[in-house]
Amino acid sequence: MEYRLTKTKWRTLWLAIALLLLFGVHQSRCDILPVKAIHHNNTALHQVLEALAATYPNITRLYSIGKSYQGKGLWVLEITRNPGMHTPGKPEFKYVANMHGNEVVGREMLLLLADYLCSNYGRDERVTKLVDTTRIHLLPSMNPDGWESSKESDCSSVRGRFNANGVDLNRNFPDPYDGQKNELQPETQAVMNWIHQEPFVLSANLHGGTLVVNYPFDNLPRELKRSGTRVYYSSPDDDIFVSISKVYSLAHPTMHKGHPQCPIQRRERFTDGITNGAAWYPISGGMQDYNYYKTNCFEITLELGCCKYPPALYIMRYWYANREALLKFIELVHKSGIRGFVVDEKGLPLEGARIIIENRAKKIKTSKDGDFWRLLVPGNYTVRVAKRRFKNSKKTVTVDPDVSTVVNFTLFRKNSNNFNRRRPATKINGAVELEKPASNVSFHSIVTNRDKLRLAAKSPKKSASVARIPSIVASFICLVLVASLK
Ligand code: ZN
Repeated sequence: MEYRLTKTKWRTLWLAIALLLLFGVHQSRCDILPVKAIHHNNTALHQVLEALAATYPNITRLYSIGKSYQGKGLWVLEITRNPGMHTPGKPEFKYVANMHGNEVVGREMLLLLADYLCSNYGRDERVTKLVDTTRIHLLPSMNPDGWESSKESDCSSVRGRFNANGVDLNRNFPDPYDGQKNELQPETQAVMNWIHQEPFVLSANLHGGTLVVNYPFDNLPRELKRSGTRVYYSSPDDDIFVSISKVYSLAHPTMHKGHPQCPIQRRERFTDGITNGAAWYPISGGMQDYNYYKTNCFEITLELGCCKYPPALYIMRYWYANREALLKFIELVHKSGIRGFVVDEKGLPLEGARIIIENRAKKIKTSKDGDFWRLLVPGNYTVRVAKRRFKNSKKTVTVDPDVSTVVNFTLFRKNSNNFNRRRPATKINGAVELEKPASNVSFHSIVTNRDKLRLAAKSPKKSASVARIPSIVASFICLVLVASLK
């Protein structure tokens, strides 16, 4: 006997299929999140980032900065309130991991950090403030090709260290002393484009093989290298690099002790768990030096442990050792130095104005919105702002510990009349007002109960059992619908 479905039954069948598909996707997201303590392969890593972006659309954006030598995506998860673009007055921060493909701890730390920030947004006051006030970019793998040839439990070899073209990416950046030794690789080019595109303030590059924070400079002039003695080659901001490096090492339960006791270098010691790169061993074409020479961004390198590719059962141990340090390091963008806006006499933002600290060679430039961040250790500074065709402006500023000091500048054109000097910089203030949590007061103030309620209401976090209820209900409805077809 021929069985034919009526129009209504067809509709019911389609509805059941749609429901199953919809909640099947929901269920598979539940399988991926929360992030597991496993070594994610490149496909699984991308799935985690996709799941986070889909589950927390209000505070995340997944984007690619380019492709590896073999064409794999270099995926970045942006985490902030209102993601998508730079907000005037909101600092930009980045973590980059797995630049050496066989150094995998950082890769898993960034996935766990992403999950921690997203799932605690609207629930934990500290995380909510951080996500509201900072644009955080996480690149869990800069070298996905290298990862493919690395092996779990291989603690010390170089298998998988290089990209698929056999190049060490942390020797591939243009170097002020040695130029470009190897042809620029697609991964390096992608990161260079990225760091010139976003006005990053602070960054860390996550590696493995020992336990220490390494800060610029990594390289030094050839004549000093030839001398054969170890040279501490400091940057003009050595005091700042020492200070921010210690923030990380001191927040780590063992790094600050400075005695990693790695099997290949048992006697190696680092005072306070930090070291100048050149004093440890000089390298040419490193990423942290490039950040400092060419951009506003201050970057350090984190060596997270002796074993480059530890067995997965140790991942949670690494996470608990690094979680607080990773959070504290991001918070530094709000807690050190000066920040503000540079505008013209009409209150319009001035891009490319130089922020010059007296007796300090490194200059910072304002971004297109006229905003700037200049990391400094506490103390008194004379700050001068200069731009072509404008008169310089100079201020004396006291930088306090634990808070970034706001200092704004108005520059006047050299040939302009000064009749409108007293006009306030209304346009820029308006932009800052829109992003209230970016101001000093709100970052360090307590979130009101009303704000807490609003944040909690927006939070997509559900407990695992609650998250499963819709799929159980959907399955039940589908069963009833299919049964009704008979
Ligand atoms: Zn490395």
